[in-house]
Amino acid sequence: MKIAVASGKGGTGKSTFAANLALSLSKSNDVVLVDCDVEEPNLHLFFDAEHEESEVTVPVPVVDPGKCTFCGKCGDFCQYGAITVLKDDILILMDLCHSCGGCRIVCPYDAITEVPRVIGKVRDSQPDEHLRLVTGVLNEGETHAPVVIQMAKALAGSTPTPAGAVFEHQFRELVCSMADVTIYDSSPGIACPVIETVEGADYVVLVTESTPFGIHDLELAIGVVEKLGIPAGVVINRSDGLDEMTEELCRRHSLEIIMRIPFDRRIAGVQNRGGLFSQDMPEWQGRFTDLYHHIRETGGGGA
Ligand code: SF4
Ligand code: SF4
Repeated sequence: MKIAVASGKGGTGKSTFAANLALSLSKSNDVVLVDCDVEEPNLHLFFDAEHEESEVTVPVPVVDPGKCTFCGKCGDFCQYGAITVLKDDILILMDLCHSCGGCRIVCPYDAITEVPRVIGKVRDSQPDEHLRLVTGVLNEGETHAPVVIQMAKALAGSTPTPAGAVFEHQFRELVCSMADVTIYDSSPGIACPVIETVEGADYVVLVTESTPFGIHDLELAIGVVEKLGIPAGVVINRSDGLDEMTEELCRRHSLEIIMRIPFDRRIAGVQNRGGLFSQDMPEWQGRFTDLYHHIRETGGGGA
């Protein structure tokens, strides 16, 4: 089963929830946790272990000046404005290139070839016998987050490898390469990387907190999962028991509140030390396991 963990905004405790869920479920399942927050991956801070890594590349065009006639066809074709053809020169802005390959196809003189450009990496580690962590890392300044997310999900074995992509590193044989549960930790917000992350998931857990900003951003995130038609439930983090507005929003969207994590000094203390409260407070492992069974029974029917 594939569970995506998302939130409309940062700072709700989404990654902490994903890490606690993964740790708890790994006591009785093979779990792969995929850090899809590729611009700021942080799950490795909870699960420190040696990793192997492979670069993620995208194909970008290069022009053979000996063949180019500066006819301008490639520039006219590129809808992203990545190619400017001058009278006797041609400029390619790699940051704008979406690696569609169209300019190579339309060039009548075979002047364009493609070379790989490194945009990030994927890392694979096994912090525990039944827990594997796959991390996508986007290089600073790059904009192709969805490509790195696709590669991380493919490395996790939960989606096919994207067309034309190869892992340059031969990853070692992993103990739990076939997971019972795959957990995708998404980036916050509702932009393209979030869509790429939750796509293909059997269930989405939306982590929120009962503040006016939290409720506003939760509503945006609910809109995304409703559009994608993926079953979802809400986790209220740092709940002080006064969650009426969140409850009302969930009622309006027929969404179940599947867990409340209270505002609790012990939990805050563990988290301030960078720990996972389900480790220090083992009663939570049972709660996360019950939550998983509830998700299976009520929403995410995936294998
Ligand atoms: S289409 Fe080919 S020949 Fe024409 S400007 Fe582009 S690279 Fe040069
Ligand atoms: S590969 Fe596509 S996006 Fe990139 S420069 Fe060529 S036409 Fe533009």
